[in-house]
Amino acid sequence: MTNILELNLDDLEKLFSKQNIPKYKAKQVFEWIYKKQTIDFSEMTNISNADKTLFASFLKTALPSYEKFFGEKTVKLLIKLSEKDNVESVIIPSEKGNTLCMSTQVGCPLKCDFCETGITGFVRNMNVSEIITQYIVAQKEGYEISRIVFMGMGEPLLNLDNVLVATDILNNPKGASLGIRKFTLSTAGLIPEIKKLMQKNYKINLAVSLHAPNDKLRSRIMPINNQYNIKDLLLILLEYRQKTGRRISLEYILLKGVNDSLQDAQQLSNLVKGTDFHINLIEFNQTSSKYQKSDNLSIFSEFLLKKNINVTIRKSAGSDIKAGCGMLSGKK
Ligand code: SAH
Repeated sequence: MTNILELNLDDLEKLFSKQNIPKYKAKQVFEWIYKKQTIDFSEMTNISNADKTLFASFLKTALPSYEKFFGEKTVKLLIKLSEKDNVESVIIPSEKGNTLCMSTQVGCPLKCDFCETGITGFVRNMNVSEIITQYIVAQKEGYEISRIVFMGMGEPLLNLDNVLVATDILNNPKGASLGIRKFTLSTAGLIPEIKKLMQKNYKINLAVSLHAPNDKLRSRIMPINNQYNIKDLLLILLEYRQKTGRRISLEYILLKGVNDSLQDAQQLSNLVKGTDFHINLIEFNQTSSKYQKSDNLSIFSEFLLKKNINVTIRKSAGSDIKAGCGMLSGKK
């Protein structure tokens, strides 16, 4: 049995051809799933009963069980991929439509000091159908999704192949038809994978978790910095910016007494001087780590504004239901 959510339209067509089923029927099924929001063969009214039975004999369409949690501004989905593997996705409604924050790994191996997912540890990569399931469940719950951010559990660039197949599927004009500009990928900054993304010519928006203005501090709170330092990271981002034309944002959580002084702001402004990188200052969400929320958010941001740096403040949404950035652990 193949999980139908593993397949883009051309793979589904190939699979149907192998079974001597006409191609147009694959297109009908694909449209039901991604345009008419049902994955249940029994609801596909233009498909004969004989075909429904036939398709169900080689295609798996069952969705995993899940729970919903309603916060003030967000809805969290806790999806049970298996007995022990849970992932979370967050729906963030706005005037411009609903954004879906998707997970890409069960857990995360990067061990950033302040992030709950890192503290929980790494289990495995999610496969394509598991990534897509998050979208299918959100749509099924009545949230029409118009933007995708790969900012949930895990490091998307460590599961790049599956993330890109999932992106292609949701991007397919014959299905969900989400334009590539509607996707943002957040990364802790893996240089070889950023290069790969660039070579494949995906014009996806990049958000990069910087969180510190110098290598000494960044290595302390984000071990990945020992492998890829800030200077090399910024160089590759400049190249990405130039090649793809996509704006890049640097995420910076303000941690009390750690990276929130005006000296840190000065160092940060030196780093981005002469670029058009956008700085996204993030309010820290309390995790089981030792860190605390900084009181300097507005002072820090005003300092950067005075230096003519593009800066915005991202207030936390979802912390009331543990759905905020860095709070996803796969538990309620
Ligand atoms: N691994 C990727 C994708 C995860 S995105 C990455 O690092 O970018 C999750 C975002 O939330 C990242 O920017 C991460 O640094 C940030 N984050 C982690 N812990 C946080 C916390 N406690 N409060 C606010 N943001 C946090």
